[in-house]
Amino acid sequence: MTVQPNDTLLEVKDLQTHFFMAEGVAKAVDSTTFSIGRGKVLGVVGESGCGKSVTARSIMRMVRPPGHTVDGEILYSRAAETGQTTSVDLLQLPATGAEMRSIRGGEISMIFQEPRASLSPVHRIGDQITENILLHQPVTPSEAELIAIDMLQQVHIPLAEQRMGAFAHQLSGGMCQRVMIAMALSCHPNLLIADEPTTALDVTTEAQILELMQGLQAELDMAIMFITHDLGVVADMADEVAVMYLGKIVERGAAADIFRDPKHPYTIALLESLPRMDQKRDWLQTIRGVVPDPYSTLNGCPFHPRCADSMPGVCDEIVPQPISLEDGREVRCLLYTEHATQESPQLAEETSHQ
Ligand code: SF4
Repeated sequence: MTVQPNDTLLEVKDLQTHFFMAEGVAKAVDSTTFSIGRGKVLGVVGESGCGKSVTARSIMRMVRPPGHTVDGEILYSRAAETGQTTSVDLLQLPATGAEMRSIRGGEISMIFQEPRASLSPVHRIGDQITENILLHQPVTPSEAELIAIDMLQQVHIPLAEQRMGAFAHQLSGGMCQRVMIAMALSCHPNLLIADEPTTALDVTTEAQILELMQGLQAELDMAIMFITHDLGVVADMADEVAVMYLGKIVERGAAADIFRDPKHPYTIALLESLPRMDQKRDWLQTIRGVVPDPYSTLNGCPFHPRCADSMPGVCDEIVPQPISLEDGREVRCLLYTEHATQESPQLAEETSHQ
């Protein structure tokens, strides 16, 4: 352990989680690096299959075989009794050991994509929430029950006391998602990982859940890692955005900068495919092609078969490395390197003014 003086809550360095299948090795997370500050919201966006959920499960140490985290560091800043913070590499802790179990569900909580599938069908929701509280807090069963009722009220479950005795199948999808949020927040985590928390919900319930999470985040001053395929959803919530493609973060920076002036062609394409009220179009813009087979080994930039700006002879041969731009942004694209100069002096001149 080392003393960590800054305000970084979680720092993920060069994380690599691979799945070893009969068909080959799928590099679901491949050299991913990012950090989350205390009380900040990081939006992680990208198409399905780009490694967002596996990144979250790697942080929680919940990757199951044939998946393995093969390299990297996940440095979590823990408050010590002395008042100082110490940095713990979660990957060095046994996944089922006492310290990791105390962090998982207590200090770092997760809301899963499918609330109904994540709740136990054979246990009452009250029992599921109180069990989590008793695991992580030094309280009696009756105190845990009171905390659980209070959390259900905070997430606006009507008749919270009666709902404690309900089973998941007796609740609507939106109610199940609120129960998951209540369970995740019941121990006042420092970090909430929300993995597509509104995917299964209708737009009205989605808006309510997002508003609820924003309110609780401000009230509890917790950090959120908000995973979604929808850039529009993170626009209002995130302080920072990380855009993932094929297991790598291709652009990372302040949310305002990324929405105002996206740099990576994939981010630009994602934003252009959002429907907008101020534009009249007969069709929706899409990103050409599909996400490649996870077992494929593409030369050069993994986005080059789909990229409108791809430079033949450059992008299909050279693997782009992260480049730091002046505004603190990080982007993985050869357009921002000297290779663009060789390919197109005009383009290089444009990018040099950014
Ligand atoms: Fe497109 Fe080339 Fe940049 Fe990849 S490196 S995103 S192919 S321009």
